[in-house]
Amino acid sequence: MSEIRTRFAPSPTGYMHIGNLRTALYEYLVAKKDPNGKFILRIEDTDQERLVEGSIDIIYETLKQCNLIHDEGPDIGGDYGPYVQSERMKTGLYKEYAEKLIDIGGAHYCFCTEDDIENQRKIAVARGESFIFNDPCNSISLEDAKKRVANGESYVIRQNIPKEGTTSFTDEVYGVITVENSTLDESILLKSDGFPTYNFANIIDDHLMKITHVVRGNEYLSSTPKYNLVYESFGWDIPVYIHCPPVMKDEHNKLSKRHGDASFQDFVEKGYLPEAILNYIALLGWAPETEQEIYTLEELTQAFNVKRINTSGAIFDVDKLTWMNGMYLRNMNIDEYYELVKPYIAKAVSDKYDYKNIAKIVQQRANTLNEIPTMITFFDDFPSFDESLYTNKKMKTNPEIALTSLKAAYNVLENLENWNEKEIHEVLMNEVKRLEIKNGQLLFPVRVAITNMKFTPGGAIEISNILGKKETLSRLKQSIEDLEKTAN
Ligand code: GLU
Repeated sequence: MSEIRTRFAPSPTGYMHIGNLRTALYEYLVAKKDPNGKFILRIEDTDQERLVEGSIDIIYETLKQCNLIHDEGPDIGGDYGPYVQSERMKTGLYKEYAEKLIDIGGAHYCFCTEDDIENQRKIAVARGESFIFNDPCNSISLEDAKKRVANGESYVIRQNIPKEGTTSFTDEVYGVITVENSTLDESILLKSDGFPTYNFANIIDDHLMKITHVVRGNEYLSSTPKYNLVYESFGWDIPVYIHCPPVMKDEHNKLSKRHGDASFQDFVEKGYLPEAILNYIALLGWAPETEQEIYTLEELTQAFNVKRINTSGAIFDVDKLTWMNGMYLRNMNIDEYYELVKPYIAKAVSDKYDYKNIAKIVQQRANTLNEIPTMITFFDDFPSFDESLYTNKKMKTNPEIALTSLKAAYNVLENLENWNEKEIHEVLMNEVKRLEIKNGQLLFPVRVAITNMKFTPGGAIEISNILGKKETLSRLKQSIEDLEKTAN
């Protein structure tokens, strides 16, 4: 086969749906498996009512953030431009091809009004039948139709569908799909305003752009036979089809923007990394051959195989994404991580503390960037005492043991001259030995005493080091007093 050419063809609707991004990713992977493969961006903006300003920038930005770099597209050009359908329309090409299709018997002019169609629908509904428009204009001779068009009558161009027989095609994911032609409607290809419908524009553009593989949502599966009839009328090669199952919120509902759980940008704003989101969605509906779950884009390109895309909907599991995001954050080198999280630390902690050291402890714990500030407010705002925090089964501590440990810790820390993790560690471990207790019986109460929090990033040693000697001792003293008070 000649080089593989795939296209991502989003409609500019104002945000990047997770399912659309997955389509883009699969298109990219299919193309890049071929060393000469091309991944093309085409903007499908013929449905002018759905246009949302700024959408195209969101599309560029998302592809860039995800490293899905296109080889041809509106912003970089290519041999098959323009790459925006409204610009392509201005060249008159859709109308030209629609008229050509009429001449070769694949389509016809239709002069029916909305009312004509509505009347037919009402009759069908009254009879309890499912409605398929039966176009009376089918029987108008081409000569007459052309005269009416020349006279300025309003018209659309509709596809001709054989009344009988079946149309079949093979989808890479769903296998052989066969439909009765009688169930296909004679869709509009060119609207009265001269704009092509998606149904038509996608065929013409995929052909002219030499697209070899079409990846898209399975909602297009049922219309694909109609597209194939157009390809056949023109005598064009039909592309390889890869229809993908929907991305689901749960068993019954698709992810939707309305529920606030479908937009890539929303996840980025919630503190997820584009790489992690991309990695996660690669696995939504595609099953790798091994147990591996963390993939670079390069690794995905190697491992991806359309034959392993599932046919049933894939449930989007936010917890799994959160876990994966945490893996990505923990695997970053500390300098890169520090640059990334600095603003999140600054939201919660004054700059008298060492942000880099805070970044180090946060890295071990945070799964998303947005949870960072609430984890570290205790540095500036020492929460109030809570005796119950000192009782911990696993650490084998209770308020009584804690009090002994805290007093011992206070004494050695007070005498410590060089305040750093190594020295703090050393003196505290000496106390553990001297008191013949377990590490946790000393370190856990110290951590609680200086944070008054059940969970914190970092442990007693790291946090003491960041707080500094004065603040650590003052908090320890305070907690010792509070524990003594409650003990009495
Ligand atoms: N513009 C269509 C959409 O956003 C693209 C479908 C396709 O890839 O063919 O749903």
